[in-house]
Amino acid sequence: MKKQLEILLELQRIDNDIDEEEKKKRELPLKLNKIAGEIQELQNNLVAAKKAYKELQINLNRKELDLSDKSNKIKKHQEDLYGGKITDIKELKQLQGAIANYEEEKALIEDELLDLMEKVEENDKLIMELEEDLKKKERHLQDCQQEIKLTVSKIDEKINSFYDRRKGILSKITDNHLLKEYELLRKEKDGKAIIEVNSSICPGCYLDLPSDTIYHLKKEQIVTTCPNCNRILVWKG
Ligand SMILES: [Zn+2]
Repeated sequence: MKKQLEILLELQRIDNDIDEEEKKKRELPLKLNKIAGEIQELQNNLVAAKKAYKELQINLNRKELDLSDKSNKIKKHQEDLYGGKITDIKELKQLQGAIANYEEEKALIEDELLDLMEKVEENDKLIMELEEDLKKKERHLQDCQQEIKLTVSKIDEKINSFYDRRKGILSKITDNHLLKEYELLRKEKDGKAIIEVNSSICPGCYLDLPSDTIYHLKKEQIVTTCPNCNRILVWKG
């Protein structure tokens, strides 16, 4: 029995190795999810910046139209003022007042235009930065994908060699019932079916083992299992 249990322990070790490599393989694409999320965020920001660009342009065009409207009005009033057709002082004063008002409004629009142009410049810069970041991130994603592909093929090689060794170990197991028990326990116990014990605590469930379990364990004549978690135990003296 001792011999068979030792072979089973060997099988457990190789299965642990296989499980570990499979887990690595599963976790590798998680890194890609993070980068993909960052790319999505950059794309969203870019869409927002381009929308802001359109709005700013429309605003800018409107202000330019307003400005030319004021300029035209001023020009027309100035023509009236200096054209010599109007001689009435009161009317002339009214014209001067209107021109002054338009000039004031024009100055305000010019300030707003300057503000807007500044915003357009900032927004242009933002769009350029976002596009550059996006390109970098996309390159990074491709690099990572390549890297992961390479790592996966290395892991697969490793797993294949583990399976070869596993076959060799399996051929040494003559106790079919024990093997079936092992496979069932592997499914039930998250992969860990057989464990070595060197104290009165089960390393599988961390509970105290009864003294008769320890007694049988040390004798190594029958297959001993933990009364709590059912895992097969092997005394590691
Ligand atoms: Zn246990």
